[in-house]
Amino acid sequence: MKNILVIHTGGTISMKEDKETGEVNTQGRHPLEEISTLLKGVTEIEDEILFYLPSPHIRPDHMLQLGRHIHERLSQKEYDGIVITHGTDTLEETAYFLDLFLQTKKPVIVTGAMRSSNEIGSDGLYNLLTAIRVASCDEAQSKGVLVVMNDEIHAAKNVTKTSTSNVATFQSPQYGPIGITTKKDVFFHHKTTHYDSYPIQQLSKKVSLIKAYAGMDGTIIDAVRKSGVNGIVIEALGQGNLPPETIPAIEKTIKQGVPIVLVSRCYQGIVQDTYGYEGGGRQLSDLGVIFANGLTGPKARIKLLVVLEMTSNPMELTPMFSY
Ligand code: ASP
Repeated sequence: MKNILVIHTGGTISMKEDKETGEVNTQGRHPLEEISTLLKGVTEIEDEILFYLPSPHIRPDHMLQLGRHIHERLSQKEYDGIVITHGTDTLEETAYFLDLFLQTKKPVIVTGAMRSSNEIGSDGLYNLLTAIRVASCDEAQSKGVLVVMNDEIHAAKNVTKTSTSNVATFQSPQYGPIGITTKKDVFFHHKTTHYDSYPIQQLSKKVSLIKAYAGMDGTIIDAVRKSGVNGIVIEALGQGNLPPETIPAIEKTIKQGVPIVLVSRCYQGIVQDTYGYEGGGRQLSDLGVIFANGLTGPKARIKLLVVLEMTSNPMELTPMFSY
């Protein structure tokens, strides 16, 4: 019998709806306690509550604590897999942090719910059951951290929350899910590639995320640099371009040794130094802006937070963002 460790961190999956006020919050016993009973004789489940937080309260230090906790538990016992329940708002950031941090071949699955445990059509228990089935599956090993929601399996690196309320909210734009689950089986139809991991000891740096817009100038970039950040991620326009009025602030920031990582505000595609006009990708890359290969802004921020613990040298940072 497979032995799975379930770690709860909070979120809607751990919450109940107050039938009188409609408010969704944590109350009373943990709503997923019944999972061990449901799987009796099929899978051995150990579950524990590490945090009881809505995911907008999750910070990078919580992510690091969770990562360390997983390493500690894996060193204590031969679990076949780990499942983490998490609020969906920042689930993709925690999942990607764990993907970068964890040093294990064991399946690590993150799941959540869009509807609280006592709402009609609640997806919490179902997603948890499915996540446990994927975590029990040998094929889920060595694939990096996976996100399982709504009968789909996604790579932590690519998945993002696309709808505020739909249960099919988690999608991997451009790439699609790497597998699906059915009532009987778990199917993987894509391989994950370029799994990189960084054995960092702390998360001590400050990285801000800025979104570009038409008519933008350097005001926000200057203000963020002056606030004392160690790095900046910019969600640029299109294939990786910025309005020309941002250039003096970009130049000053890089000259001061604060790396700037560029991603696109587009839903799909990767940034490249294609355009030669003022503010275009070619000029940005000549100035030393680092182009990230296909990450979203929040994920590039997580990666910069992680890799800045190892180096702030742009020559070393650049290749780390090329995959
Ligand atoms: N606001 C909730 C959270 O992220 C949403 C959810 O869990 O689905 O904690």
